[in-house]
Amino acid sequence: MLKFLESICKDNSILLHRFGLGERTNGVAIKLPECGTRAIAYNETLEGWEKIKVIAHEIGHHALGHLDDSVCAFDKHINKNATEELNRREREAEIFAAAFTAVAMFVEQAINKEEVIIA
Ligand SMILES: [Zn+2]
Repeated sequence: MLKFLESICKDNSILLHRFGLGERTNGVAIKLPECGTRAIAYNETLEGWEKIKVIAHEIGHHALGHLDDSVCAFDKHINKNATEELNRREREAEIFAAAFTAVAMFVEQAINKEEVIIA
């Protein structure tokens, strides 16, 4: 599934890199205003579905236009001190990531011919 995310980034000219981002940041979406370069950095400590979800979350920030009026969106947890607009954007990116991850898991199960439950 990581290859699929890498393909989405490549097809949309989003640079995707793994970095040491410390303990508090899982990922960051970046758009440089002068040149329009877009990038995603994700924490090198992430593995498996957690890594997939964080990358999908950051793609969500790009796809939903959250960087149109700012340089970057650090992946922060929703908290009382953040502005209502920041919390709204984080919720939207989380919804995007949850939907993407759910579909990705379904597709991976189907491809691997594991039991697929359709409700
Ligand atoms: Zn975020």
